[in-house]
Order: sequence, then C-alpha cells, then structure tokens
Amino acid sequence: MKIIKTVEEFKEIRKTFGDKSVGFVPTMGGLHDGHLSLMKRAIAENDISVASVYLNPTQFNDKKDLETYPANFADDCALLEKAGINYLFAPTYPVMYPDDYKYMLTEKDFSKELCGAKRPGHFDGVLTVVMKFFNIVRPTRAYFGEKDFQQYKLLDGMVKAFFLDVQLIPCPIVREANGLAISSRNRKLSPAGLALAPKFHEILAGGGSEEEIAKKLESAGFKVDYVTKKDNRLYAAVFLEEVRLIDNISI
Ligand code: AMP
Repeated sequence: MKIIKTVEEFKEIRKTFGDKSVGFVPTMGGLHDGHLSLMKRAIAENDISVASVYLNPTQFNDKKDLETYPANFADDCALLEKAGINYLFAPTYPVMYPDDYKYMLTEKDFSKELCGAKRPGHFDGVLTVVMKFFNIVRPTRAYFGEKDFQQYKLLDGMVKAFFLDVQLIPCPIVREANGLAISSRNRKLSPAGLALAPKFHEILAGGGSEEEIAKKLESAGFKVDYVTKKDNRLYAAVFLEEVRLIDNISI
C-alpha cells in the first residue's frame, strides 16, 4: 500500500491508472469491521482501491468530540495494508483546505433535519470534503455505509445535482452480534456503557411510535437526541456517557 499525503502527488499517480476502475472509501480513521466491509467491496469490485483517512474538522460542531475522536493512524495503516488497499490518501487540513474553508457546499433541505438539525454545519462539512475527495481521487465507485443513512442520501443527491461521474454504493450496517452498530465512538464507552449500548438497537427494532421509542430509550438510560421516522426509515441519535450514538432501521 502506498501512502500519499498531497493532492499533487495523488493527481500524478491518478494519471497512471488509465482506464482502470477505481474504488474509493473515505473514512475518518479509527477503523473497524464496518469500515473493512466497505474496503473489501472496493477491492473486490474495482481494479484499483483507494482509501482515505482524514479526520475532517469542518464536519464537527463539537470541539471536544473532534479532540477525543478515537483514531490511531499506525493501527489504521496496518489494517488497510492487511485488507489489501492499494493507495491510502492521508492529507492534512492545509492540504484539504487551502482556502481555509472559505468555499463550502450546502444542501438546503434534508441536511437541516435529523442529525443536521442537531449538529449545525455538519453536512456542509461532509459534502464539501467528499466533493474535494471526488475531485482528487476521481473514483469510478465510492462506498458509503448505511449506518450514516442521511449522509448517504445527501451524497447521492449531491452526485445527481452536480452530474458527478461516480457511482455511489450503499453498504449495509455492520453490527456486533448483540445488534450494536459498530462505530469508532463505541471505543469511548466504559465497560458499563458498552453493556448498555446494544439496548439502543434493540429498542429501535422493538417498534412503536416515535414518542414511545424515545420514552423507552430514556428509561433504559440513554439521553435521546432525536427519534424520527421519515421515508420508511426510523432514524435515532442518543447520548450515552456523553458519547453520541446513531442508528437507523428500515420500517
Ligand atoms: P467514518 O470514518 O465514521 O466517517 O465512516 C466512514 C464510512 O464507513 C462511512 O461511509 C460510514 O457510513 C461507514 N461505516 C461506519 N461504521 C459502519 C458500520 N458499522 N457499518 C457499515 N458502514 C459503516
């Protein structure tokens, strides 16, 4: 696996790919089996595989959340290498934001709901950084997890709105055996928090109205951020030990 840190170097290498298909998986590091499921598909379905590890500050509205994000670059490199990724793009803020985020991409409707309502500016940061990645990597296919279903829908809308030549591939949520959606942030939970966390998915899967589900979550010990049904999907975010967990299920 070759590690590339600048846009100039990536663009030079990109020229050598010719007509080969390129599968791309953007991540913020702290890699786990959820990320690896996307990597495996990118490797299996394309001639060349590219991953990025970049903790994108513009999508964090909470400074503490950014500062305590559990990621270790050496561990991530070892995992990607073992998975068989060909190229890792790992830029820094000045590389990704030579404009210091004076330019941004905004969606004016769905990005203001659900997680967007609770994390102002979050999806501006996501859409902006992914557009930058697409312009650098020029992937044939890009892989995104349904764990962040709202993010996937917004990126899908962006691809259509801007006529981008990339195929987005949504990938199913990878869960622990107990149902908990795997997330980098799970590592921030104490053993007691980790023992309670699977109840989040269990309660969502148990059904009921938004209010009933929110009540059950609060009684179980979660602080509910939102529980919302939209377009045959139940979306929810909760806090557990100040760690924000999200999940969604098709209904
Ligand atoms: P992140 O590093 O959190 O930005 O995630 C990078 C990509 O991995 C995103 O497309 C996420 O939706 C996806 N992802 C994270 N966790 C999971 C999971 N448990 N199952 C499937 N995809 C995931």
